[in-house]
Amino acid sequence: MSASTITPWVIGNWKMNPVQAQAQQLLNEFKQLLQDHGIAEEKCHLGIAPTMLALSTVQAQLSDAVRPVYSVAQDVSRIAGTGAYTGEVSAELLLDAGIGYVLIGHSERREIFADNRDSLNAKVQNALNAGLKVIYCVGESLEQREAGQAEAVVLQQICDIAGVVAAEQWANIIVAYEPIWAIGTGKTASPEDAQAMHAKIREGLKQITSYGASMAILYGGSVKAENAVELAACPDINGALVGGASLNAQSFHQIALAFANTQ
Ligand code: PEP
Repeated sequence: MSASTITPWVIGNWKMNPVQAQAQQLLNEFKQLLQDHGIAEEKCHLGIAPTMLALSTVQAQLSDAVRPVYSVAQDVSRIAGTGAYTGEVSAELLLDAGIGYVLIGHSERREIFADNRDSLNAKVQNALNAGLKVIYCVGESLEQREAGQAEAVVLQQICDIAGVVAAEQWANIIVAYEPIWAIGTGKTASPEDAQAMHAKIREGLKQITSYGASMAILYGGSVKAENAVELAACPDINGALVGGASLNAQSFHQIALAFANTQ
């Protein structure tokens, strides 16, 4: 049983999946599971991050769920407001569409779409200033872990945003630790390794912000129903960012139950 008093978050990252008919079926199944086996909001917050295209539809479909399930954008523009920026969606436009949460810094955005310190700072700053809550993703590569640099890399990624986050805005940040070598690979960090890194992140956050002790730190990287209970039992793992397993309603529900049962 986790000793944490932080209400966990379980967020499904659908990435560039699925087609509309499957999304609808997935949401219907998930809503039914929530109805049949309730998970109270105070035991676990739930979120789903669909494609930008599906955000509003998913949000509408979730509006009649038996409990809140928050819609989360997978990314946001580094440009604020509105204007001639083809293909971009700003924090203000997300908020205007009723979306309250955004993932920033996912390793796929960093590695494939060239997000870097500057663009991430702009995204985090715009999102927070617009009033969005940010799930800020950090994590090391296998090479960095094998070179003994994991902790330094992750703490640096957190320090990177410190200059653009105002003191009170830390309350609107959730950190997601996602070792890159564990994402979509079926390899999960052991609960001991994940807890050790989460404890370091917690220490680092406490040095930066007075909210450090109360911020949720999620683990991501091949979380499944089979490993969720062990991960959820770790005191500094306050939830999960779930990729592949969130595309199966039963698995996602089981993972949420694992974290809710620690409360
Ligand atoms: C992710 O993309 O955030 C993720 C953790 O993916 P997976 O669960 O598939 O490893």
